[in-house]
Amino acid sequence: MFLLDLLLPQRCTCCDLIVDADELLCEECLQQINFCNEDFGTHNKLYRRLQLLFPLRNAFSLMEFEKESLSRKIIHELKYNGRERHGKFFAEWTSERLQFNEREKPTVIVGVPLHPKKKRKRGYNQLDLFNQILGERMKIPVDKEALIRTNFRRSQASKNKARREKTDQGFRLVKPLTHTHFLLTDDVCTTGNTLASCAWELLKEPSNSVSILAIAHES
Ligand SMILES: [Zn+2]
Repeated sequence: MFLLDLLLPQRCTCCDLIVDADELLCEECLQQINFCNEDFGTHNKLYRRLQLLFPLRNAFSLMEFEKESLSRKIIHELKYNGRERHGKFFAEWTSERLQFNEREKPTVIVGVPLHPKKKRKRGYNQLDLFNQILGERMKIPVDKEALIRTNFRRSQASKNKARREKTDQGFRLVKPLTHTHFLLTDDVCTTGNTLASCAWELLKEPSNSVSILAIAHES
């Protein structure tokens, strides 16, 4: 392991400086990341946006998703550049900043499901590693199968954009989970519409509640 580190040193994903094997960015580049620095709860920007769309319990966002920002660049790498391992670093940064009291601790982590076609194309679901490491750190189980995507079928009439978007937005809870406090995770929250579609499905069972965790959100 040590020898391998010497042969193939880990480099800062932004400036190429050699860094420790367990770091994504050097100290200086890490300073450029715009962390939200807001608590998991109801007093933050993400909560205020999402509460207009569905009843949520708490919200947390790790980073701001600004144009030309480093956070945007590294999330883009996670999603489109095959950098699955970035998810591990985002999970570690999150677990260092995320705190909840026992009463508000979610019972299970579920990610916004990726359509199987997209997953095949990408080779991975960009939330899987993030959720797995986050679950280990926070001691919350992860359920990858509970929530699935449905009706991704493209509408035959492609001109019917509204209808197509509606069918694309289908999600289904395929396990009979009740009295469950979900921590629903997503990479980037922009409009919040996808999170809302998932949340409404989880909330069809009235004893359930939903909290949201985004790796980044666009303000
Ligand atoms: Zn750097």
